[in-house]
Amino acid sequence: MKVVLEHLTKIFPSRNKKEKNAEVVAVNDFNLEIPDGKLIGLLGPSGCGKSTTLYMISGLQPPTSGKIYFGEDDVTELAAENRGIGLVFQNYALYPHMTVQQNILFPLQNLKGENRLSKEEMLKRVYEVAKLVQIDEYMNRKPSELSGGQQQRVAIARALVKMPRVLLLDEPLSNLDARLRLQTREEIRRIQRDTGITTIFVTHDQEEAMSISDYIVVMKLGVIMQTGKPQWVYDDPANLFVAKFLGTPPINVFRGRIEGGKLYIGEEAVLETKGAEDQEVYVGIRPEGFILDERGGLTCSVSGIDVMGRDVSVVSTNENSLNPVIRSIVSADDAGKVSADGAVKFRLKEHKVFIFNKETESRVYFGKQVAAHEAMLAAMKAEGEFYAFHEGPLPREADDASKQTQPEEEKGFTATVKKLFGKIGAAFRKKPETPAEDAESTENAENSESADDATQTESEDKE
Ligand code: ADP
Ligand code: MG
Repeated sequence: MKVVLEHLTKIFPSRNKKEKNAEVVAVNDFNLEIPDGKLIGLLGPSGCGKSTTLYMISGLQPPTSGKIYFGEDDVTELAAENRGIGLVFQNYALYPHMTVQQNILFPLQNLKGENRLSKEEMLKRVYEVAKLVQIDEYMNRKPSELSGGQQQRVAIARALVKMPRVLLLDEPLSNLDARLRLQTREEIRRIQRDTGITTIFVTHDQEEAMSISDYIVVMKLGVIMQTGKPQWVYDDPANLFVAKFLGTPPINVFRGRIEGGKLYIGEEAVLETKGAEDQEVYVGIRPEGFILDERGGLTCSVSGIDVMGRDVSVVSTNENSLNPVIRSIVSADDAGKVSADGAVKFRLKEHKVFIFNKETESRVYFGKQVAAHEAMLAAMKAEGEFYAFHEGPLPREADDASKQTQPEEEKGFTATVKKLFGKIGAAFRKKPETPAEDAESTENAENSESADDATQTESEDKE
């Protein structure tokens, strides 16, 4: 079943009674076409509106405006129980006094009228889905006699037993320990492939979303920042937020500028940037984008070397880096060239360097990247145009930034900016506190699990 969201918007009144007028635009003009039979990862930091989007698709929350279509049917006004959806939450919420079989059977027993099945049909269906999620050996156990992963599989079976048109999963793995999380996500992938049910999987964990999704939708503050195949989005981020949100270790971000067809970080020319206009920029360099080279343009101070088997992570600093340390992954063979506490020089891989305009934080394409981006767009179009991205500042951003306390690093950053005044000129003076800097501190905090758990409890209140 194809799912289409058209200008979908959800505005909540403020929870803070003192600020009566401060409403929250939880989902802001969402336009998305989810292809039939695919698994979509809805991904973003805590509070970006993932659950709200899911609840509107499920029918548990009415949108403030906009439309939801299942196939050609407008379901915007349709009650949740008539939408044919299966829903799985973070907390498995099984009936503790019922056995596994009774738990899975329960939704079928509630079917009314012509949808009602005979006892025999019901049991057959229950065994089929139990087998599918590999829980059929435990049919007579109570939930308390199962592991977390097994309980979550029962919850998935219960969501599948009515043969939903769309399966909605809201952080279904968050309560599982690391090993089970990996295993269960593979199982969700397999179940989705076996059934072909259009599935929307919500998570704040970029690695999780990247590993199981056909397509990801990266969100921030209620807005779609970029959509596409996980690898495409990783390789071709449309804005600084997406570049920073995807990837472990995270991308290294530097302040820089383009001048006369060259990219400068500090006073060093680090890359040719044919075709890009002169401007102040942020430079994102993936950890795998550095090559150790004595004649390389970028000089950093080594602060450590982490051996990770085949690869080595060189940890270094540079006064123009926005990350406290720069992590570059080089092959173990090259690591001998690095002295543990000296300067190191890097050459950069062009396709691993992403440049963003300093004001808009949108991508600045240069050199071969222009053609590569065109090719990516064409490939996406051929796959059904599952592509969208955001440019420019976000409506809620100014609002949120004002509520954040200043991060520690800000001091160091402001100090660096002051030092640079003489060198780089007035551009920094206009706007010394950059949105990127704010975003960095808040997003990293939000991206952590504990922060997410806090809002998860909030959303549980709503259910
Ligand atoms: P996510 O699932 O991505 O963590 P949510 O969809 O739960 O985010 O929330 C998005 C935003 O809407 C947050 O700012 C949250 O505080 C707010 N919000 C969610 N539910 C309500 C509600 N019932 N009343 C007021 N604000 C809400
Ligand atoms: Mg949520």
